[in-house]
Amino acid sequence: MSGIPGTLFIVATPIGNLEDISQRAKDVLASVDLIAAEDTRHSGVMLCRLGINTKVIAYHDHNERRLVGGLINHLQKGLCIALISDAGTPLINDPGYQLVAAAHTAGIKVVPIPGPCALIAALSASGLATDRFVFEGYLPSRSAARRKRLSELASETRTLIFFEATHRISGFIEDALFVFDANRMVTVARELTKVHETIHRDRLGSLATWINSKQTCLKGEFVVLIQGETGGNQHNDIQRILKILLTEVSLKVAVNLTAKITGQKRNAIYKQAVEYKDER
Ligand code: SAM
Repeated sequence: MSGIPGTLFIVATPIGNLEDISQRAKDVLASVDLIAAEDTRHSGVMLCRLGINTKVIAYHDHNERRLVGGLINHLQKGLCIALISDAGTPLINDPGYQLVAAAHTAGIKVVPIPGPCALIAALSASGLATDRFVFEGYLPSRSAARRKRLSELASETRTLIFFEATHRISGFIEDALFVFDANRMVTVARELTKVHETIHRDRLGSLATWINSKQTCLKGEFVVLIQGETGGNQHNDIQRILKILLTEVSLKVAVNLTAKITGQKRNAIYKQAVEYKDER
C-alpha cells in the first residue's frame, strides 16, 4: 500500500462468449488487489479459464450496503479493486451503484473498462432507430402492472428497450400487443453471443404469432426492443388513448374522454372499449 488512493475499475465481462473479454479487462483483473464479484462461483469459472488468480470477494444486492464502507477503506489505503457482475457491464441492472457513488464521494478514481452489454449489443443489431433510446430494464412481472407501465410508454418516440426472462417473454409480448399498435416494429434478441443466438425483427402482431409458435424452444435470456411511436394514423391514436384511459378510469369515462380528445363518434369508440375490456 502506497498512501496514494487506489482505483476502482468497473470491468465489463462477456454475456455468453468468453472470447468477448478484452485484453484490457484481462490485464486489469490480473493486476488488481481484489475483485468484487456478484457471484464468486460463477465468476470463478471465468477467471479460472482466463488463468487469473486474483482474490475474489462476493459483492451483491444483499451485502452491497454492508460492504461499501470496507471497500472504500481499502481503496483509500491504496488497494485497487475491480468490480464485475455475472455477465456484461456492472451496474446495468446489476449491483455496484452504491460503491461507485461512494467512491466518487470519497474522491477515489473510478475507471470503466468497457465491453459487452446486452442492451447495446441488441440495439446495434435490432434494425430499429439507435439515435435515441430508452432503457426500461425489467418491467413488473404481473400483467396488470406491466400493461400499466407499457401504457405510460405508449407515446414515447424513442426506441424502447427491455430485459426479459424465459418464463415471461410470451406474456410480455401479449401485453405489448394489448397496448401498442400491431404494426409497431419489434426486435427480440435472444441468447446473444451464445450458440442459440436469435435476432428476430417483425411487426408486433406477427411477432406475437412467432413467439407462440416457438414457445417450447424459447429458452434463454432476452432483450426486447420496441419501435418508438412514429406519429401513426388516427385509428392508432384512438386505440392508444382508449387503452391508456381504460387502465386508469371506468369504461364510460374512458369512452367519453377519448371521444372528446379525438373528436370521433362515441358509439364506435364504445364498441372498441368493450372489446378491450373483454380481452383483459
Ligand atoms: N449487466 C448485464 C449487461 O450489461 O448486459 C445485464 C444484467 S441483467 C441482470 C440480465 C438480463 O440481461 C437478462 O435477463 C437478459 O434480459 C439480458 N441479457 C444478458 N445476457 C444476455 C444475452 N446473452 N442475450 C440476451 N439477453 C441477455
